[in-house]
Amino acid sequence: MEFLSRKARGIAPYTAGEQPQDRTYIKLNTNENPYPPSPEAAKALRAFAAETLRLYPRPDAGLLRAAIARAEGVGEENVFCGNGSDEVLALSFPAFFDAHGVGACFADLTYSFYEVFAAFFDIPKTVVPLRADFTFDLERMKQTPCAGYYIANPNAPTGVGIGLAEMERFVASVPEKLVILDEAYMDFFGESGVPLTKKYSNVLVVKTFSKSYALAGMRCGYAVGDAALIDGLFRMKDCFNSYPVDRVAEAVCAAAVGDRDYYRAVTARVVSERERLRAELLSLGFTVPESRSNFLFAGRVRLSGREIYQGLKAAGVLVRYWDRPVLRDFVRITVGTPEENGVLTEQLKKLLS
Ligand code: PMP
Repeated sequence: MEFLSRKARGIAPYTAGEQPQDRTYIKLNTNENPYPPSPEAAKALRAFAAETLRLYPRPDAGLLRAAIARAEGVGEENVFCGNGSDEVLALSFPAFFDAHGVGACFADLTYSFYEVFAAFFDIPKTVVPLRADFTFDLERMKQTPCAGYYIANPNAPTGVGIGLAEMERFVASVPEKLVILDEAYMDFFGESGVPLTKKYSNVLVVKTFSKSYALAGMRCGYAVGDAALIDGLFRMKDCFNSYPVDRVAEAVCAAAVGDRDYYRAVTARVVSERERLRAELLSLGFTVPESRSNFLFAGRVRLSGREIYQGLKAAGVLVRYWDRPVLRDFVRITVGTPEENGVLTEQLKKLLS
């Protein structure tokens, strides 16, 4: 410890979902896609010329930036790419918030990386509780003094979503504050705020290739917004890492983003399976908020989140739980294939009986 800075000693880092190697699990704990990436992405990977790895990639991930701009219907100057959306979110904190300044506002139950980033960059945070039904209290957030907001839409770990019309009303009502929409799971909902970025300069949308694109192993994410916001992200990136997106990721993600038909079909399968699994969990007595994502937040049965997690893990099924108020009565279950979800529900029935 003696060589560590005060920050390194004092900070509570984010804990990623476990990736155990001791046996093969049905992995429903980190919201990965149960289906493979697009055949176009696989083709791009096979065609990748290893000898080009001698060279650095483009510092702005230009090829990918152009492909994303085409797919999202925005200009290249409106797109920023990073090493996973976690990195894009990380860079957004120093880009848009001052250390020891007015601070950022987010919900009490949301993506727990926001509070880690805020602590890391010495940015004050104001946490607004979700309502009892797990919906966002946008009215209260609106009245909270802050320089901007982080809103995961759909939210994690609850899966609850905010529709585009309601989001537009919120964005329009806080023109002096920046609204950062973390849309990691938005493709499973289909109410993206990207159209708002063309109309409002105070919206930044952050997306990822890890979930709907089934490319979590590629580590790539991006932001869409007004060119001035994108410039702010570039300024931070170039204080940290000139080349966050490698050549392989650039080629594979650019191919993926062009294969709209494949992903539309895969996403529809996950969504229909989500609805089927939710109905089944409700019939087992679970409380399950309506989910707009690729996971379900299920709990308030006679077992705690930890007991469900441990019972399922012993049976070879991994889900996620947190030892925190409210969350400890629930587990978060990623929607798997119909077969995987079948094993999950069988094991849950055994645990509950
Ligand atoms: N936002 C949310 C809400 C998430 O759940 C995740 C996944 N842990 C991320 C962002 C980050 O995803 P990635 O870094 O893989 O793009």
